[in-house]
Amino acid sequence: MKDHDVLVIGGGPAGSSAAAILAERGRDVLLLERQPFPRYSIGESLIPHCWFPLNRLGLVEKLDASDFIVHKHSVQFINTEGTRSTPFYFFEHYDHPSSRTWQVVRSEFDQLLLDNACAKGVEARLGWAARDLLREDGTVAGVVASDPDGKEHELRARVTIDASGRDAFAQTTNRWRVMDEHLKKFAIWTYYKGAKRDPGVDEGATTIAYVPEKGWFWYLPLADDVVSVGVVADKDYLFRDTRDLQEVFDREVAVQPWIESHLAPGEQIRPCQVTSEFTYRSKHCASDGLVLAGDAFSFLDPVFSSGVFLALHSGVMAGDAVEAALAEGDVSAARFADYGAKVCEAIEAMRRLVHAFYDVAFSFGDFLKVHPEMRKEVTDCLIGDLHKDFDPLFEAVGEFAAIPGPLPHGKPLERA
Ligand SMILES: Cc1cc2nc3c(=O)[nH]c(=O)nc-3n(C[C@H](O)[C@H](O)[C@H](O)COP(=O)(O)OP(=O)(O)OC[C@H]3O[C@@H](n4cnc5c(N)ncnc54)[C@H](O)[C@@H]3O)c2cc1C
Repeated sequence: MKDHDVLVIGGGPAGSSAAAILAERGRDVLLLERQPFPRYSIGESLIPHCWFPLNRLGLVEKLDASDFIVHKHSVQFINTEGTRSTPFYFFEHYDHPSSRTWQVVRSEFDQLLLDNACAKGVEARLGWAARDLLREDGTVAGVVASDPDGKEHELRARVTIDASGRDAFAQTTNRWRVMDEHLKKFAIWTYYKGAKRDPGVDEGATTIAYVPEKGWFWYLPLADDVVSVGVVADKDYLFRDTRDLQEVFDREVAVQPWIESHLAPGEQIRPCQVTSEFTYRSKHCASDGLVLAGDAFSFLDPVFSSGVFLALHSGVMAGDAVEAALAEGDVSAARFADYGAKVCEAIEAMRRLVHAFYDVAFSFGDFLKVHPEMRKEVTDCLIGDLHKDFDPLFEAVGEFAAIPGPLPHGKPLERA
């Protein structure tokens, strides 16, 4: 007899959405979150197709009415000389409520998602960390977890969903991680208050501003007159003459005229932070009694702001897959094969676009001049409409850019 139907590790977008979907179906769900909430997270810019999982969770109206969002209608690219290309307005490409998306303060956004899960009946234990997987007859049967006082407990469930983010608890424990050797970037970022915002419909735009050597800045206008700004590039490029984060950040700001002029009227309000953004995927999306979702399954370089979408989307899909498995009374790995294939399909389209972005021989402008018929496919990728056949797009992109073969396709781990 198990203590719970489902145990979820992690209260980020992936964990909270999977938990909410299952609680809605009357499942007894326990969610463990290591940190107290609300907690800081990077990853503030959403893409249009976030609307669909958020709508399924019943959160679109609440999000629109909240005070921690800025509406985002577009993405714009700035070249190394500081010149802006025509913004890419989502509403010019399709007519649907999702064509207006959001910049969010993640501490508040993630709290909203977790509160929503709890309102549907999820029991969330904050300050509880999963430490080890429990196995019974080769099937994952829950976790060993420590409580806020450090005491360890065995917690049993029919299915465990790992949504522990880039800690990737199960992937690390099982040594399933496969790195993308070509996407190993570093990011340094900070926050400004009072920095310049573009007027009107551009006020909430995500700006991607190029720095030499295929690095880039993000510039995201958040609520309360705050801007999130960060630079992403290869480690050797960023740290070529100093390891001081502030010095590196200031040096790069000084060579990107658009970023420099937009930050000029503002005041930096937090120290610089750094992270490696190594792209990876798990060899397996599931084993008997265990399913992986969000960054715990795969992390992708954030240039196209796909992370929260993939977390919400895979969280909802994991919730549905686990519900179906519980209903059938079969939680073996094979039950989750379709789930894994679907998540990989979504990630793979984005991953190939990210590779094109970083290829020095590739530019979207030049590509679309030669292949104007591909505009819709590029748009679909950028907005997160990912369950389509993108092979023709990437065959055409392949004329300009080298795109390495796919990472493993997250197959379920069948029992030997
Ligand atoms: C520099 C950078 C910029 C980014 N920018 C964007 C962006 O603009 N837009 C975007 O969409 N995405 C962006 N991302 C990606 C985005 O942050 C992630 O993809 C997203 O947060 C993934 O959600 P998740 O629920 O999978 O994981 P998380 O949000 O990381 O949540 C996982 C949770 O699990 C908890 N946890 C971990 N281990 C345990 C454990 N053992 N026991 C219990 N709890 C545990 C953690 O405390 C955490 O709260 C960016 C990422 C980086 C690194």
